[in-house]
Amino acid sequence: MPTKSKSAKSKKSSSKSPKYVYSFGNGKADGNGKLKSLLGGKGANLAEMTRIRLPVPPGFTISTEVCTYYYDHKRTYPPALEKQIDEAIHKLETAMGKKFGDQKDPLLVAVRSGARDSMPGMMDTILNLGLNDRTVRALAERSKNERFAYDCYRRFLQMYGDVVMGVQKRAGEDHEPFEVVIEELKKELFPKDPHVSDTKLDATALRKLTDRFRKLIRERTGQDFPEDPREQLRGAVGAVFGSWNNERAIIYRRKYNIPHEWGTAVNVQGMVFGNTGNDSGSGVSFTRDPATGEKVLYGEFLLNAQGEDVVAGVRTPEPVLQLQVEMPEVYRQLQDVRHTLESHFHDMQDFEFTVEHGRLFMLQTRNGKRTGFAAVRIAVEMVKEKLIKPDDAIRRIPADSLSQLLAPVFDSRARKTTQVIAKGLPAGPGAASGKIYFSANEAEAAAQRGEKVLLVRVETSPEDIRGMLAAEGILTARGGVSSHAALVARQMGKVCVCGASELQIDYSTNTLHVRGQNFRKGDFLSIDGTTGEIFPGEVKTSPSDIVRVLIDKDLTPAESPIYRVFAQLMQWADQRRTMEVRANADQPDQVGHAVAFGAQGVGLCRTEHMFFEGDRIDHVREMILAENADERGKALSKLLPAQRSDFAGIFKALKGLPATIRFLDPPLHEFIPHDEASQKDLAEKLGISVDRVSRRVKELHEFNPMLGHRGCRLGIVYPEISEMQARAVFEAAAEVQASGIKVRPEIMIPLVGFPKELELQIALVHKVAAQVQKEKNTKLSYLVGTMIEIPRACVVADQIARSAQFFSFGTNDLTQTTLGMSRDDAGSFLPRYQEEEIVRQNPFAVLDQGGVGKLMETAVKLGRSTRKDIKLGICGEHGGEPDSVKFCHQLGLAYVSCSPFRLPIARLAAAQAALKN
Ligand code: PEP
Ligand code: MG
Repeated sequence: MPTKSKSAKSKKSSSKSPKYVYSFGNGKADGNGKLKSLLGGKGANLAEMTRIRLPVPPGFTISTEVCTYYYDHKRTYPPALEKQIDEAIHKLETAMGKKFGDQKDPLLVAVRSGARDSMPGMMDTILNLGLNDRTVRALAERSKNERFAYDCYRRFLQMYGDVVMGVQKRAGEDHEPFEVVIEELKKELFPKDPHVSDTKLDATALRKLTDRFRKLIRERTGQDFPEDPREQLRGAVGAVFGSWNNERAIIYRRKYNIPHEWGTAVNVQGMVFGNTGNDSGSGVSFTRDPATGEKVLYGEFLLNAQGEDVVAGVRTPEPVLQLQVEMPEVYRQLQDVRHTLESHFHDMQDFEFTVEHGRLFMLQTRNGKRTGFAAVRIAVEMVKEKLIKPDDAIRRIPADSLSQLLAPVFDSRARKTTQVIAKGLPAGPGAASGKIYFSANEAEAAAQRGEKVLLVRVETSPEDIRGMLAAEGILTARGGVSSHAALVARQMGKVCVCGASELQIDYSTNTLHVRGQNFRKGDFLSIDGTTGEIFPGEVKTSPSDIVRVLIDKDLTPAESPIYRVFAQLMQWADQRRTMEVRANADQPDQVGHAVAFGAQGVGLCRTEHMFFEGDRIDHVREMILAENADERGKALSKLLPAQRSDFAGIFKALKGLPATIRFLDPPLHEFIPHDEASQKDLAEKLGISVDRVSRRVKELHEFNPMLGHRGCRLGIVYPEISEMQARAVFEAAAEVQASGIKVRPEIMIPLVGFPKELELQIALVHKVAAQVQKEKNTKLSYLVGTMIEIPRACVVADQIARSAQFFSFGTNDLTQTTLGMSRDDAGSFLPRYQEEEIVRQNPFAVLDQGGVGKLMETAVKLGRSTRKDIKLGICGEHGGEPDSVKFCHQLGLAYVSCSPFRLPIARLAAAQAALKN
């Protein structure tokens, strides 16, 4: 918000009052590019372009302070404004050599909004202001083009009537009143072809139209259209300020977090005309290609047209490069402009221009929006061109945009021709397409037959892991961004859309019903995990270069320019960040990918994810169904070798980097079958009665499994489970260490809230470690620590730190328990919460710094008060989200851990956080 002190410091006009109006023109400007909060983005850059002598039509900017004043004072203006505007108009008239309302050569102006951040299309614009029944004739005469003059006039009447005088559709009317008048006239003039294009209306027809428009205004408002240009201007300025608070602008600000207090500026600028013939036109261009980042002039141009026509899409513009042939001199000027803009603004620019009788005018410039690909390429190449420094490159790339570089994408042409059938939460970025299957087993079997598969589930559980692994993508009807489906998908680098609540999935008939369409098992669907969109049929996809170079290894860096700029950026980021990055990974191959993406260790190995391969699940189920410790021990001893070999694989893949291994966490019921047929199968396999199986299933039923018998509570009630897991870790460590590879296991106990819980589990870990070291006659170095994922742990962290050598914040559960919101079910009300601005962002995706963050701060402080050098990290999903990563840096965490495919984001965000300091 413009502050008082700023206005006090502003240059004074002739009186003592603050300066509200800033003129620009002919190489001189009161403002400059730095004054965006005062002049808005457009106004500040018009001033700046004027200063660097780009051809900007002269004009003036009424500051955002006037907007704030306007709303603070019942829609009135500061007393000093009128005089300042008078002075500015006088200057403008001198600069243009024309006068407002002049009968020979009238000054016409454009009145445009311009907030600090651009809000495209949200606020109002009025062009050709200054026309009336007399000046239009002068314009016709001077331009020797009567049609052009009346076309400008009728456009002005229409915009002014609508925006300023409020001649709009009334309740019960289907069409805009001005459009109705146009249609009526066309019917009269072209009874056989009433839908002719506007261009068919000649000067006489357009003149008739202006008469009717004025009549319409009178009828609808009881007032005459104002002939006096000063009065027109007053009305237009008020309308632009008023449009700051129109509904769509308010919604836009909410969506993009733009404060309501900022206000908009108003830019009044001499009109230049792109619609005066075939030596004129309008265009919108970028100094580099905003999709690929390639260093070429990129954009569109429309001959004989005003700027609106380019944006409105009524006529199809041609590529700006075509000007090379059609207007070579203008093209040469544009190339110069492009160079000047970039060397001055040090960033890719998106600019609007008009050519009037072969003369180029600049109407706007701003930093161009771009894809993730372009962001990286432009930043890295600008460093090479010495336009910016590596620090600038790091700062300016939105860390999240890197996900685009890693994810598979839909072929853009194929995507355009397909309609969205529903939307869910974008949970795992990228594009995937495949035949749908409703059970993990069937998905797996189909993938083995060589089919491309999408796994579609109401929600997923650990049981579905193999199906998820086999699928190209995962689609669920329930669950949020930190649901099981989402976090496992991200960890695997799978595309995932979850919580698509419109999907009606019927497992009994293997069908999916959505918005009147039915899809059966084996039908194709496509999902976009970057946007959450779901499409029918097969939309073509292509894999990313980065994955091909680093993971698939079927492309070399030399063959991939985008890989090379990505690698350069990562190198700069790594040189600057102070936090380490680790990966959440559970399988040796995942760990391999993680290391390729820059992981400096594993921050979370969820051991339960290892329970599903081969026949392990049977042993797990046997263990769960055991009736006493002995039986349990037997089942566990069958699991031991499998866990051991997984851990050995992980240690080998890590080549000496640390691995945080978390003991079993989910409630046991997640591992056993709930339907009768599978229970019968299991009973047969284990040689026990079906009754016994179903009884145990009932015993394990919990109303709130997330708050139930899970986490360390399992290891406390069944110490044999923790013992087996500890043994598997240490035996694997001994084995790999013997082969000459360094191992650094860090055993992590989940869901601790009471110090004693941790102490019991730690004692057990040390006991097993001592046994294994003795048996193998070796010495192992390891750490034991805990997850901090329930509020109690945060507030007694000083006591917990007595035994914990490290803390890792499990912010998925910590968010769930702090907010008292289920991480799996909150999707049913969170969107409304965001709409109502109760929460700005989904707290399971972006850390709730004000709540959960406060508890983390407490835990860090208390933890350090007991153990000064306690190692601190985060392994919840927030560890790969840029704002949360920055928060972790401020907390002084040693590392963030996230899914492998998010590592580049975390590396960049950590570097950005370090630079901020
Ligand atoms: C957490 O709770 O943040 C965490 C990492 O553990 P999980 O997601 O497995 O519960
Ligand atoms: Mg957890």
